[in-house]
Amino acid sequence: MDSDWNFSSSSSSSSSFDKDRHVRYLEMMYQTIPSEYQEQEINRLTLAYFVISGLDILRALDRVDKEQVVNWVLSFQAHPKNKADLGNGWFYGFYGSRTSQFPADENRDLSHNGSHLASTYCALAILKMVGYNMASIDSEAMLISMKKLQHPDGSFMPIHSGAEKDLRFVFCAAAICYMLNNWSGMDREKAKEYILNCQSYDGGFGLVPGSESHGGATYCAVSALRLMGFIEYDLLSKSTSSSIINVPLLLEWCLQRQAIDGGFQGRPNKASDTCYAFWVGGILRILGAQNIYNRGALQGFLLTCQSKYGGFSKFPAQLPDLYHSYYGFSAFSLLEEPGLNPLCVELGMTDMAAIGI
Ligand SMILES: [Zn+2]
Repeated sequence: MDSDWNFSSSSSSSSSFDKDRHVRYLEMMYQTIPSEYQEQEINRLTLAYFVISGLDILRALDRVDKEQVVNWVLSFQAHPKNKADLGNGWFYGFYGSRTSQFPADENRDLSHNGSHLASTYCALAILKMVGYNMASIDSEAMLISMKKLQHPDGSFMPIHSGAEKDLRFVFCAAAICYMLNNWSGMDREKAKEYILNCQSYDGGFGLVPGSESHGGATYCAVSALRLMGFIEYDLLSKSTSSSIINVPLLLEWCLQRQAIDGGFQGRPNKASDTCYAFWVGGILRILGAQNIYNRGALQGFLLTCQSKYGGFSKFPAQLPDLYHSYYGFSAFSLLEEPGLNPLCVELGMTDMAAIGI
């Protein structure tokens, strides 16, 4: 009897979304991000995006000093020394971390030290969510140099050389152009062709043409097509036969990702994982299929990953991490948890138009 009592007692602590604890968890993370003494080579802009966008989803952006955040983010922007530099093939976006702004010594590979499409996406998303005037960003060099990252097949490399190219960076490029409201940084038609080549026989998308379908890659494909204006919201309510992608197969693939425990998996035969509640749940939202899967079961799975210290873990009953916490909050927003801001799924942040900004 004791064990029954203990069981019900411990499970009741995670029977609902604990917003206050999540805000405290992110506030703690926010305090550590701008500190100068942490010199490890990590992508600090990505961590900052998770924290600040997470607070925004939790309607707690007032915890952030917006002016300090703007100045901090802008300090990561790479600028060419002169016009001639723009021809050197380097990308002038945002560095991922402070240490990468220093030139490498002759023994180090310079390719690891350029600015990066993913950190540029994170930087612009943060600036947008704290209300910075996006039109005042010095974006000319960014867009001119970004276009040179696009390959003839339409894909993007994230930095100027020596990196893999795949759908993740096509998504970043589309999100960057969308936020800057300037598409001169990419060839949209080529990007579209590349994305369409990544749709697999089973309806999902792989990171590169011919590769296995994957939840994250499929999110990048669908969101990039949406940002570029090639597909509409609520595709299911329209004539799917006229869509440029195979919508029925894509829907089927996404629905099959909900596992018996209620969570979403990234690929067949993999365990359910918190982040795919957003990656796959987000695609279903864009398709207009948010009421077709078992939302109650997904919520139940996510609550088993909710930490009593705030945040979410990847798998049930593990310690939380920032990445899975952010996608846990995003998933609960998709599930229309009261007290959370709605998402612009394809941008991966709060829907500012829906909340009147
Ligand atoms: Zn995950």
